Amino acid sequence: MTRLASRATGISPSPTLSIDARAKKMVADGMDVVNFGVGEPDFDTPDHIKQAAVEALQKGMTKYTPVAGTDRLKAAIVKKFKEDNGLEYQPSQIVVSAGAKHSLYNAFQVLCQEGDEVILPAPYWVSYLEQIKLAGGIPVIVQTRASNGFKLTPEELESVLTRRTRLIVLNSPSNPTGSVYTRAELEALGEILARQGVVIISDEIYEKLVYDGTEHVSIASLGPELKELTVVINGVSKSYAMTGWRIGYAAAPQPVAKAMADLQSHSTSNPTSIAQAASVAALEGPQEPLAEMVREFNRRRDYMLERVNAIEGLSCGRPGGAFYLFPDMSAFIGREFKGKRIGGAGDLAQVLLEDALVAVVPGVAFGDDRCFRLSYAASMERIVEGMDRIERLLSQMK
Ligand SMILES: *Cc1c(COP(=O)(O)O)cnc(C)c1O
Repeated sequence: MTRLASRATGISPSPTLSIDARAKKMVADGMDVVNFGVGEPDFDTPDHIKQAAVEALQKGMTKYTPVAGTDRLKAAIVKKFKEDNGLEYQPSQIVVSAGAKHSLYNAFQVLCQEGDEVILPAPYWVSYLEQIKLAGGIPVIVQTRASNGFKLTPEELESVLTRRTRLIVLNSPSNPTGSVYTRAELEALGEILARQGVVIISDEIYEKLVYDGTEHVSIASLGPELKELTVVINGVSKSYAMTGWRIGYAAAPQPVAKAMADLQSHSTSNPTSIAQAASVAALEGPQEPLAEMVREFNRRRDYMLERVNAIEGLSCGRPGGAFYLFPDMSAFIGREFKGKRIGGAGDLAQVLLEDALVAVVPGVAFGDDRCFRLSYAASMERIVEGMDRIERLLSQMK
């Protein structure tokens, strides 16, 4: 066997995958598993978006496009930033990639170098950690507290800043917690970050999925200084139920955007031409399907949250966005089920899958083993069934 590069051997396989693989195998074996592990909307891509892709195909838009995206799509993105976030960008500051995950990858590659410290508030989305390491960065993980909605406080931020701090990752609304930073909270963090010149990677992929009138604020919109320090990451996957189309985008200061596009020019080149045309329709077309999806997610969130908090031993705050709950299960640590001691959320997830046929993602995947992630990207009927099963099983665990 040939030697693998250290870069490759340093990557941890996703800890969510083993439970996911097991759940899938159980389904394939004909078992009725309720899957709360899902990380994508369960809705289909709206028709007018699909139609735009069909038209693009028929019109022969099947060739290379400019590396950083078509002029048409970049114009739609520029307009989106202006209208939704009050942010003014030139088209040359926009880079369209094969999904927001790819945008993040490009950003870390061009901004982070060997030995740079990158502040990563936990719980965090799994890929940040690996992408930081791939870029040679040193992840500085800050554990946030459930009591304030898992949001990084200015004090926590100050406590980890060093001369080597180069970047910070913010993700609001958050996967896995659903937490949304308020304007005031971002202003407080922004003041410190601007003072230290820390570059901000702001992952806003769940921007549109907010509830109860929660306001999404982009930290880049809090003044010219912060805009100069921020790379905003967004995409169509979550808002428009387009995960399979692979279109994400970044807005960044000119030199950063150029470096990201240059890097991309030697790896993937442009993202799919047809998916770019569909994304124009997503951003500029009717937003009613999105509003419909948000109403349905809101209804499910309310129901699931009530069920979770009615279970003795579980507690979960009210998330303002995304489509996840991240309940604390630490009251179950040390309890037993069928002779097996529960040591953390990983053990609980295993028991839930094997004995209740419900798949959840253990929090260890996100850097927090006292919680687990429940996705409500499932039909109301399945949510009712899954919550019944969880409640029944946990009531037997004394
Ligand atoms: C889903 C997700 C992404 C990636 O989205 P794609 O555009 O499908 O690559 C990025 N960040 C977070 C937090 C996500 O949950």
